[in-house]
Amino acid sequence: AKAAGVNGYRVFDDLMEERMSSRVSIRSELARALDTDELTLNYQPLVCAKTGELISVEALLRWNSPRLGQVSPAVLIPIAEESGQIIHLSNWVLDTGLAAIKTLGDVPVGINISPVHFRHSQFATILAEKLIAANVRPELLHLEITEGVLISHMEGAKKTIAQVRKLGCKVYLDDFGTGYSSLSYLQDFELDGMKIDKSFLRDLGERSQATQIMRSVVDLGHSLGLKVVVEGVESEWQARLLQLLNCDILQGFHFATPMVLADIAAFRKLHTAK
Ligand code: C2E
Ligand code: CA
Ligand code: CA
Ligand code: CA
Repeated sequence: AKAAGVNGYRVFDDLMEERMSSRVSIRSELARALDTDELTLNYQPLVCAKTGELISVEALLRWNSPRLGQVSPAVLIPIAEESGQIIHLSNWVLDTGLAAIKTLGDVPVGINISPVHFRHSQFATILAEKLIAANVRPELLHLEITEGVLISHMEGAKKTIAQVRKLGCKVYLDDFGTGYSSLSYLQDFELDGMKIDKSFLRDLGERSQATQIMRSVVDLGHSLGLKVVVEGVESEWQARLLQLLNCDILQGFHFATPMVLADIAAFRKLHTAK
């Protein structure tokens, strides 16, 4: 069919069609996967910028589909959000993450919560039930939410954030700096911390402006009483510079890639405060 694409439109149609059908197959495969053990969570360490000790881990979804291969969460999540499967999926992630907290003992676990799930009117109530059922200390659960939830749902989001913080959970604003009016959100919403997006690291150390911007964002976070996390740290010099800029917590391939839960204990032994 691509040969027919002389005017450019046909090729585009084919691409669209291909995309649509892969959407459909991801949907139907996911429905099955939710009842099998194809889905797992990997855990990436977050470390103290000053001492390098393990502070917490972030749970990241992995799907090894027998038919589709490895499906990235960046592809899967938007499709599940659109189809409505996200609620089921996200509850699975929460349950699995809570079980991980139980296994780890006292290492906090960060869980990414889709705006679609966070907006659910029963979110805080169901979370409270899950915390009780899992019998874990709520402060060990760190919820990572994105701007998306704040934009579309101001009052509801405020209320839900307040409710989950009252339960004792921590709330972090993820991907800070990728949206458009992040600064006001930091003021308007009661958060525990912010995760500065890895795109901020791109020009760090090369252009003095980039370093100044990072410094300002870190200081802003601190002035609002937030823990400041930087993600996507890939090199030693980035880590050092971020430490000099007073970042609290760092995450990235330089320290560790996402790993299976069983490997966190060994990482922790190597990275405890002296
Ligand atoms: P995110 O929440 O911003 O997660 C961080 C992503 O950056 C992860 O990609 C992680 O593997 C990657 N990363 C970590 N360190 C580095 C680094 O040093 N350099 C680079 N280039 N990347 C690094 P991953 O696992 O592919 O996840 C992609 C996105 O999918 C996540 O971005 C998050 O938005 C979403 N996601 C993943 N798991 C879940 C989940 O359980 N639920 C929901 N709702 N979303 C999830
Ligand atoms: Ca995240
Ligand atoms: Ca992020
Ligand atoms: Ca992201």
